[in-house]
Amino acid sequence: MSRVRIGGDDRVFVLTGAGISAESGLPTFRADDGLWAGNRIEDVCTPEAWERNPGLVWQFYSGRRMDGQKAEPNAAHFALAELEAQIGDRFFLCTQNVDDLHERAGSVRLVHMHGELGKAHCENDCGRPPIEDHAIYGSLAEVGRCACGGRYRPHIVFFGEMPLEMDRIRDEIDRATLMLVVGTSGSVYPAANFVHWAKMNGARRVYVGPEEPLNAAAFTSVVEGKAGEVLPGLFAVE
Ligand code: NAD
Ligand code: ZN
Repeated sequence: MSRVRIGGDDRVFVLTGAGISAESGLPTFRADDGLWAGNRIEDVCTPEAWERNPGLVWQFYSGRRMDGQKAEPNAAHFALAELEAQIGDRFFLCTQNVDDLHERAGSVRLVHMHGELGKAHCENDCGRPPIEDHAIYGSLAEVGRCACGGRYRPHIVFFGEMPLEMDRIRDEIDRATLMLVVGTSGSVYPAANFVHWAKMNGARRVYVGPEEPLNAAAFTSVVEGKAGEVLPGLFAVE
């Protein structure tokens, strides 16, 4: 495997997906059965699901919180945190994951474009910021309400909603000379388009994962393997 050279002028933009947390024991979705932890996405991860059955949505995300609290960062999360420690503000991480394994590995310059398991926000979008919330809810009656009267919902970008921090993400992609994408199937938009934006800017584009993503053709190279095995030896920082 040839290493990815990172020179003194390079700026690195990293996009990660569910695959980077697979070796930590957190299930990806669309793996074999097209389910996320045994659930159909439309039942638990859409605005319609929230309207129809908020208790089921909280039950699902309470389960993800339990899984997340048990999981530990793996060698891939640590390799990215170490790269950040080496190149500082020339590093930027955008994760599609809602777990907190990147920050627990030490990453600092990161955004969660699809939200965070450990937070909740008002269902009315009343403008109040998200709150910290790590509770495991046994019933909907336990879920609190915002000052405006709205019920708190998971701080998760449901399918059909706008991802978070898109302006900052766009700026960081425009400044990057190297895009590294890890463990994402290339099927969820707009994240699946990031590699095309990087290509238009002339940046190098490397994918790491055990199988080719749907947008494989847009990469300069695809390194086939598990993130935890490939990333620790991948970078040659000059
Ligand atoms: P996906 O499930 O569609 O794809 C997972 C990808 O990971 C696949 O391409 C697979 O080949 C790859 N993969 C599997 N094992 C790997 C390993 N050991 N190393 C590297 N890659 C590996 O996931 P996605 O593209 O991230 O899209 C799913 C959406 O679901 C995301 O938006 C995310 O918010 C959400 N999600 C999050 C989590 C989490 O936070 N841990 C888990 C499941 C789903
Ligand atoms: Zn509110």
